Amino acid sequence: MSLIVQKFGGTSVANAERVFNVARIVTETYDKGNDVVVVVSAQGDTTDDLIAKGNEINPNASKRERDMLVSAGEQVSISLLAMAIEKLGYPVVSLLGWQAGFQTSSAHTSARIKRVMPNRIRKELDKKCIVVVAGFQGLSKYDDITTLGRGGSDTSAVAIAAAMHADLCQIYTDVEGVYTADPRKVPNAKKLKCISYDEMLELATLGAQVLNNRSVEMAKKYNIELEVLSSLTKAPGTIVKETKKMEKMLISGVAKDTDVARISIIGVPDKPGLAFKLFSKLSAKNINVDIILQSIGHDGTKDISFTIAKDRVDEAKACVQDYIDTIGAKDMSVNTNVAKISIVGAGMESHAGVATKMFEALYDAHININMIATSEIKISVLIDVKDADRAVEAIHDKFFES
Ligand code: ADP
Ligand code: ASP
Ligand code: MG
Repeated sequence: MSLIVQKFGGTSVANAERVFNVARIVTETYDKGNDVVVVVSAQGDTTDDLIAKGNEINPNASKRERDMLVSAGEQVSISLLAMAIEKLGYPVVSLLGWQAGFQTSSAHTSARIKRVMPNRIRKELDKKCIVVVAGFQGLSKYDDITTLGRGGSDTSAVAIAAAMHADLCQIYTDVEGVYTADPRKVPNAKKLKCISYDEMLELATLGAQVLNNRSVEMAKKYNIELEVLSSLTKAPGTIVKETKKMEKMLISGVAKDTDVARISIIGVPDKPGLAFKLFSKLSAKNINVDIILQSIGHDGTKDISFTIAKDRVDEAKACVQDYIDTIGAKDMSVNTNVAKISIVGAGMESHAGVATKMFEALYDAHININMIATSEIKISVLIDVKDADRAVEAIHDKFFES
């Protein structure tokens, strides 16, 4: 007998028919003699709808109240799924995050899981119940409901698998696995049989939302093998695991992130310590800076550009204005019409010419590059958002079609 954790995303439980489809997958797994813990997200666009409803009442509402609101989406889906499983004649219990033992930090709307105390889940499994747990939510040390950030149900599933030493953690979604690019945008994208934690972590962080990046981080930390597969077809999915011995793929995928903004500061005096001052101001506000570019100076000044997440632009602008006033730089420009396109692959470490090939694809498509950043297993470029989908397709074709 094995303990299996199965997670189903919003599309997989979007309506009554889909809820019954999930109930059948779960009960088939149970019928094979397994203990089954199911984690579900809110139905369809429920989370977006709840956020919009909250904004209608008060766009400046506290994060505590926002969490109270959006966590309701998962409460609906766990009860509906449990009702469907009951109807099929199986013993089942639905649990909210706190009932399932999710203890989190108190950083509302992006809380981190501190620990999962799975006593209640275990008790229910011992009674031979199928346990259905609300993803995306937990409880802070102040006994307030928290949520884990968008896409957080993946992390809930991996956290349960880690805490309970599950034998398998399956992430069911609306595509058949992890592809070389978003299969909804790039029709030629190919399904990967297997991908390493490190590559998956980069892809997820760089915009492939098929898995939440924190869930991959946690899977790597606790060595939990993940299977990403479709709840709608029976096709084999993608395995995410440690793959040291495997032959390394040159490129495992192309990702797009449009949640990016670029800020440029023009005419920064060319003196030591000024970059330090700027970035320490931003980090004091917890604003994460991604790509940084400093141009060669002219007339005793230089320009510094960097990228941040779009939703931090207003705070960053205030910080930068303060910086400009203190150090006497000339001006600032902010561009939110940008996108970051990245390629990820463990094989690029040992192969020359990967960057050239990527830049050639963009050149052939007449797409201009604003900024470039590289690491051992990824290359990212910042481009105009209007070119983003074309860029992904051109780069994908270059690496996978030729
Ligand atoms: P769920 O609701 O099941 O959590 P998500 O919408 O969060 O599903 O993630 C699945 C979506 O991720 C797919 O529908 C697909 O459009 C998108 N996606 C982006 N990049 C990739 C990729 N490289 N491979 C597979 N899916 C991807
Ligand atoms: N329902 C939440 C969201 O839409 C969590 C999730 O889907 O994983 O972000
Ligand atoms: Mg998701």
